[in-house]
Amino acid sequence: MQRVSGKTCIITGAAVGIGRACALRLAQEGARVALFDVLDEQGRALESELRDAGHEVAYWHVDVADEAMVRTAIDEVAARFGGVHVLVNNAGIAGANKPTHELTEAEWDRVQAVNVKGVFFCTKHAIPHMRRAGHGSIINLSSIYGLVGGADVPPYHAAKGAVRLMSKTDAMYYAPERIRVNSVHPGYIRTPMVEHHLRDSGATDIEAACRDVGLLHPLGHMGEPDDIAWGVVYLASDESRFVTGSELVIDGGYTAR
Ligand code: NAD
Repeated sequence: MQRVSGKTCIITGAAVGIGRACALRLAQEGARVALFDVLDEQGRALESELRDAGHEVAYWHVDVADEAMVRTAIDEVAARFGGVHVLVNNAGIAGANKPTHELTEAEWDRVQAVNVKGVFFCTKHAIPHMRRAGHGSIINLSSIYGLVGGADVPPYHAAKGAVRLMSKTDAMYYAPERIRVNSVHPGYIRTPMVEHHLRDSGATDIEAACRDVGLLHPLGHMGEPDDIAWGVVYLASDESRFVTGSELVIDGGYTAR
């Protein structure tokens, strides 16, 4: 199927995990894909893999917390591919896993810089191109941690809550210009971020830790990156043309209680 044929999609944090799965599925569904990341080796490997499979793709080294870098790269994507139609604000970090009273200002700020300011910068500089195109879809990766609390990673919860409401506000602002903005709220998905988080929390047997975390979800297991990528394909495509300001929860039932 060619569900996003003719669209140019920027995916931030595209080198591994959920971003990589989004890039693969969007390309497979006919999009031109622009990969942004700071992990150049993995990013360029994915670029080669997609190019060899016949897709239009390019990789940019972009730290989403650096506005100048973001602006330059987005303008280059538009020049190279003839526009920007979809932005997947996926890049994110878990940050320090400490209770609030032990966190430093720098630890707090870094999470907000990547997870919140990164979404702001990318959105800010993609909007002019979407206006020019006359439509657009912005997909912001929030989390179950942007919907409910949990006794871990306080700066991450704050950031993902912010992303949830930034999405709704931008959805309101840009709806008259046919630019849609939605948030996606994954449960635990097995990626490098989650494996790192589990190790950080003291797990020595990662398989056992993944099984235990999986049991927090009524469906009984953790998700896979593709479970999120299919939701992103839907929001990127015209199948979701009447969907804006919404929260797509893909969490195996975690927040259904
Ligand atoms: P990951 O750590 O496996 O991959 C994140 C990617 O983002 C990496 O390629 C990393 O290099 C990139 N990145 C980090 N900082 C960056 C920066 N400053 N500029 C550009 N790229 C940067 O993470 P993931 O699990 O795939 O998560 C992707 C998104 O989904 C994140 O926003 C995360 O918060 C969110 N999320 C993940 C889960 C989960 O369980 N995995 C659950 C809910 C939400």
